[in-house]
Amino acid sequence: MDSKRRDFLKIAGLSAIAGIAVPSAFNSLLKGEALASEHGAAAAGAHGAVAPTGKRWGMVIDVKKFSANPGLAEKCVSTCHAVHNVPDFGNKKDEIKWVWVDSFNHVFPDDSSQYKKPEALDSMPILTLCNHCDNPPCVRACPTQATFKTKDGIVAMDYHRCIGCRFCMAACPYGARSFNWRDPRGKDANGQPFIKAENPKFPTRMRGVVEKCNFCTERLAIGQIPACVEAAAESKALVFGDLNDPASEVSQMLKTTFTIQRKPSAGTHPSLFYII
Ligand code: SF4
Ligand code: SF4
Repeated sequence: MDSKRRDFLKIAGLSAIAGIAVPSAFNSLLKGEALASEHGAAAAGAHGAVAPTGKRWGMVIDVKKFSANPGLAEKCVSTCHAVHNVPDFGNKKDEIKWVWVDSFNHVFPDDSSQYKKPEALDSMPILTLCNHCDNPPCVRACPTQATFKTKDGIVAMDYHRCIGCRFCMAACPYGARSFNWRDPRGKDANGQPFIKAENPKFPTRMRGVVEKCNFCTERLAIGQIPACVEAAAESKALVFGDLNDPASEVSQMLKTTFTIQRKPSAGTHPSLFYII
């Protein structure tokens, strides 16, 4: 039995147990596509036993700086979505979001200070994305290891392993994952592509797979900072770095500034910190 068929039967078997269809995995294997990932070696390594690098990437989001710079949060969203070929299906129901803007009460529903917080917070734009949790329930829920932690602590996706069961979506307490109900590579009724200007350097996805923020692993791999951080560089509203390096800017900020995290009671240990 060849390895592709073995891979398919393995995925199909898991899907049958879960009572779900396997269109994306089946199509990939039929086309002879490799089980490619969004970032090659990092993903391949993560499926085996790879020693951690000692790094743990994290981000500090300064809400006041976003508030002082109207339009900046939206700029971060559009930059990220353009870089990563995130489709725009033109309606909320099918929306794919890697990073988005929400209200304080939605992002921090269990914040104990919500009844004594400054009223101004209610109208502040809160940038939200995957928390790249240190203890990620989405990774445990995935039956095919399509989502996994990299050696740098990033929670990543291997789109070609995703069978569309959406267990990871159900497991994520933050709504950080989106499902492609439609074909991102397709066009709307007016013939306009869902991906407005395709970035040839980043893979497009297919119908039936889950996607989310990848902390710009493809950019980190070539020494660049995440695209959203670069878009906000002038204001320093986003600071990114190694949480395990006590000398990093992000660690220094956390030492000297009070921050909060989303749903700490979920026990996921997010790598995102908010200055409120
Ligand atoms: S925020 Fe959600 S998708 Fe991201 S690592 Fe945590 S549980 Fe997984
Ligand atoms: S880290 Fe990269 S993938 Fe994640 S929200 Fe920022 S730009 Fe998007």
